[in-house]
Amino acid sequence: MNTNTPSKCDVVVIGGGPAGSIASGILAKKGYNVVVLEKEKFPRNTVGESLIPTFWKFTDLIDASEDIENEGFLQKTGGVVSWGGKVKTVSFKSFGIDRKALHVERDRFDEILLNKVRKLGANVLEEMKVTSIDTSNPQEAIVKYTHTKNQEPSQIKATYVIDASGQQAIFSKQRRTRVFDKDFGFQAVWGYFDKSYFYDKNLKVRSFEERYENGGMTAVSEIGNWGWSWKIMLREKVSVGIILSNKHQPRFKTGGTTLEERFDLFSKGIPLVGNMLSESTLIPGSVKSIRDYAYQSTKLVLDNCFLAGDAAAFVDPISSEGVPVSMYGGYLAAWAISNSLKKPHRKEFYKNTFAQEYNKRLKIFKILAYPSKQIPDHLFKLGQKIIHSFSEQELLLILAQSNMTGRFETLNKLLGSHSVSRDVKEVGLVEPIFL
Ligand SMILES: Cc1cc2nc3c(=O)[nH]c(=O)nc-3n(C[C@H](O)[C@H](O)[C@H](O)COP(=O)(O)OP(=O)(O)OC[C@H]3O[C@@H](n4cnc5c(N)ncnc54)[C@H](O)[C@@H]3O)c2cc1C
Repeated sequence: MNTNTPSKCDVVVIGGGPAGSIASGILAKKGYNVVVLEKEKFPRNTVGESLIPTFWKFTDLIDASEDIENEGFLQKTGGVVSWGGKVKTVSFKSFGIDRKALHVERDRFDEILLNKVRKLGANVLEEMKVTSIDTSNPQEAIVKYTHTKNQEPSQIKATYVIDASGQQAIFSKQRRTRVFDKDFGFQAVWGYFDKSYFYDKNLKVRSFEERYENGGMTAVSEIGNWGWSWKIMLREKVSVGIILSNKHQPRFKTGGTTLEERFDLFSKGIPLVGNMLSESTLIPGSVKSIRDYAYQSTKLVLDNCFLAGDAAAFVDPISSEGVPVSMYGGYLAAWAISNSLKKPHRKEFYKNTFAQEYNKRLKIFKILAYPSKQIPDHLFKLGQKIIHSFSEQELLLILAQSNMTGRFETLNKLLGSHSVSRDVKEVGLVEPIFL
């Protein structure tokens, strides 16, 4: 047993990604005794580099926005999209959105957040892998973990636990509450190229060297009926990913013998994205793949453990909602826990409100991931009830995002007679662009 680590605290947060950092930052700022247990040593790599401006309202809460501004991440000015046989462009400015969208290296972005959490007073312990969470005692949970270097076991007691362990989803796996989403049984494959051409906000094609002065549009391209591809300009490399629906997985397997070869060949053949990779080289060893990444836990809070971020649910990265929705989960968990610590007799109310509100957001996240005409009826009806609780600003952001991928009908159908006024026409269609 390691004697240098704390044996007790108010809240243990498992995972130092966006969900964990927002939750622990808010709680530490309020003066609670928070311990973050993170398996990796930061900076650690992860996918999810296109950030829509919703994230700022959460980074504001933990005073991290200035550090993010100062880092000099490339700005995402909007999107250029090949979808349904047409090429369209969307600029965030047309939707009255004035805070920046970014293309971030997630190792650095997440590190900035976690460093801020430390400064706010949380005890961040890296290279500590949580192995189990015992919530059988309603007064005190026990979290067991091991040091990843020397395998030394430890444990810590806490009044509350937040599982923000991402796709590892440690608690929902342990309690068998994770249900995979059959409609999104896709495979994602992504990797990094050394450079690429890109579109600036005026749709001029630029070379990689011009990226700092001209920001970048996220390039998105449809693959078949439901699959799609992204190209995201980063500061020193270019992120390319493909989401393969079940139908397109056999097509992916026909070229090349290794995953890298297949990915290289397939990416370069994708409309819009492939054209911009004509002089790019795939960075060896950079290709990764994930299957069955769409799921939700049937319980978002169980006993004294709250689930936030990918540990609670994930659908599909199509709407670039992953990071903001995860941060929202962290924010809501921190809200529920700080209130429960102040008023323990009301804790069931805060738990229920957390689960109810979070579930609403997750349902909209899921609805927006479906192609407009394929949303299951029950989900659509639920969405109609929920959507009115969203702010005008958030609706505009959702509209801007869903505009890119032919999903724009969804939002206005959900809103019915209250549909948001800025419709597709205003963003202006650009008829096919040839490089
Ligand atoms: C292919 C793909 C593309 C995506 N693209 C985008 C995008 O463009 N934009 C966007 O906003 N989102 C995107 N996402 C989603 C986004 O990456 C996630 O939603 C987001 O990272 C979730 O944040 P989190 O804090 O919940 O989890 P994570 O960021 O995964 O952090 C979880 C942390 O928990 C730690 N951990 C795991 N297990 C343990 C353990 N047992 N003990 C201790 N620590 C542990 C991990 O090391 C990690 O640091 C994408 C997702 C996929 C799959």
